Amino acid sequence: MKALMKQGSSRLTSNKRHSFRAAALAGLCVGLAGCATSLPEQGADKVILNASIYTQDSDLSWAQAMAVEGNQLSYVGDSAGARALIGQNTQVVDLNGQLVLPGFIDTHAHPVMAAGSSAGIEFDLNQTPEVWLKQIKEYADANPDSKGIIGFGFMAAAFGPEGPTKEMLDEIEPNRPIVLMDEGGHSAWVNSKAFELAGIDRNTPDPIPGTHFYKRDDSGEPTGWCLEAMTFMPMMAQLGLVDEASVIDGADDVFYLFSSFGITTIYDAGFSAFADSSYAAIDQLAKDERLPFRLVTSHMIQSPEHLPDAVATLRSYQQRYASELVHPNVMKIHNDGTKEAKTAGQFEHYIGEPENFGSVLLEGEVLQSFVKEVDAAGFDIHIHAIGDRAVDEALDAFEVVRKDNPNSSNRYSIAHTELVRDEDLTRFAELDVAAQTTPAWFATDGEFENQVVGQERAQKLYRFRKIIDAGGKVTFGSDFPATGSLAGLAPIVNLEMGQTRKYPGEREMPITPPVDAQLTLEEMIRGYTIDAAYQLNMESQLGSLEVGKLADFVVINHNLFEMDVYEQHQAKVTLTYMNGQPVFERDLKARFVEWMLDL
Ligand SMILES: [Zn+2]
Repeated sequence: MKALMKQGSSRLTSNKRHSFRAAALAGLCVGLAGCATSLPEQGADKVILNASIYTQDSDLSWAQAMAVEGNQLSYVGDSAGARALIGQNTQVVDLNGQLVLPGFIDTHAHPVMAAGSSAGIEFDLNQTPEVWLKQIKEYADANPDSKGIIGFGFMAAAFGPEGPTKEMLDEIEPNRPIVLMDEGGHSAWVNSKAFELAGIDRNTPDPIPGTHFYKRDDSGEPTGWCLEAMTFMPMMAQLGLVDEASVIDGADDVFYLFSSFGITTIYDAGFSAFADSSYAAIDQLAKDERLPFRLVTSHMIQSPEHLPDAVATLRSYQQRYASELVHPNVMKIHNDGTKEAKTAGQFEHYIGEPENFGSVLLEGEVLQSFVKEVDAAGFDIHIHAIGDRAVDEALDAFEVVRKDNPNSSNRYSIAHTELVRDEDLTRFAELDVAAQTTPAWFATDGEFENQVVGQERAQKLYRFRKIIDAGGKVTFGSDFPATGSLAGLAPIVNLEMGQTRKYPGEREMPITPPVDAQLTLEEMIRGYTIDAAYQLNMESQLGSLEVGKLADFVVINHNLFEMDVYEQHQAKVTLTYMNGQPVFERDLKARFVEWMLDL
């Protein structure tokens, strides 16, 4: 999924490779309380002083200090109370008045897949096919020993309705497989060698006709453009282009980015065909203490064929891999496509394509009985739904399960939630279904949307104001790496864009319609913290800074509540704590990375 974040986005997806390692977390601005003999021997492990702490507790109260014992908060309150907890071995952190928020929770991202494919080519979606082809050639020449070539981020629409072709790639590389994913991760551009090694030719049936299919020429020959995940994810796994080793190799660099933006918990929205290698990799990374966040993970349904053993598969991941930092708790149903690919399931047809209403993978009875089965098994459910018909189908299924099992403690959410019919807007509150989305997509000049869904419907995208006003929960995430730009991963940038519905800092830009859909800073923070924790069924441990909760918090150098909204995106995370431990410090190296990435 993606949206264009044009402002500065070519700048933000610059080709400078980010080769860096997690900062050595020494030299924090802390001191041991030390040898002052008047101090008691026993004290808290850490005391945080002189901060502006927005606790996100039920009263939205502010505090000045906190104490940490192990991985939990043992005190939140005023400085005098915290000072009394300083013992001889207490680490004291003076924050000089900086803002502290609960650690950000990204409610839909793909950090593990991003790590696994991070060695590949990174395309700038605003460039042209000529530039991308040149980049592929350079990469192929520079990496003669790689067994294949992967990449991410080209714009399929730049090739016209027929899409890119295998011949363009064959000219560059006839001997090794090439599989390149588009900016939204919903289609891929492959060469003949990839088809040959995967055994795909004109006689191969489409994985899910009409939804996950190979673009073909008049003779039925696949052209090299593969639409939707089931056409290329299993191919990449089969050819070994993403595996356990590539996830482990890419993990430190990619995970560092999340920590540097203050993200301490992530819902990983699915490993697709790479589930076994992905679970094995994160298990290893957790054992090696290389997971700087906690991960709620899923089993991903992308085909009706996945249904019969879905519950058993998710249970087996839970039994094998559940740990302090890894929580395989969610059934993810990938139930429609995107409006960019014109595959999101809509009630009305796409502009200029009277036959095309997109499609919905599981609907009616099939979806409802599957959701019931998953709920009965005790798992949370997350349904990808972008078009209004897909959203409606998901709400119908959740309505059935709510009636059937009113006391269920499982959490239900809909991912992306871009287009919602008027009559469905209040159902999120009624059914206690979280609406998940990415605020970095709210701002647009409308040109693309008008062409795809038409002007009238384009004015009705991302109507979360109405969902919140009806009492519903809205949560935020990045969908990284399908965010549209690296800045879209940053919660602080998203906090601003959710309030403005404009590109960062663009005061003069018109508000992206509907103009009354802007959210408040308080609502934005809520969707990244306590309501996000609720979606993940972890609100008793996460999402606010209260005694007994896990010590996950983020320190920000300016108080967002006192800033002009158009300047908020410039505020920087200076420290990120997860489980009571610092996982990011904005030291010299971090500033260098910001510079490298033009952040
Ligand atoms: Zn996603």
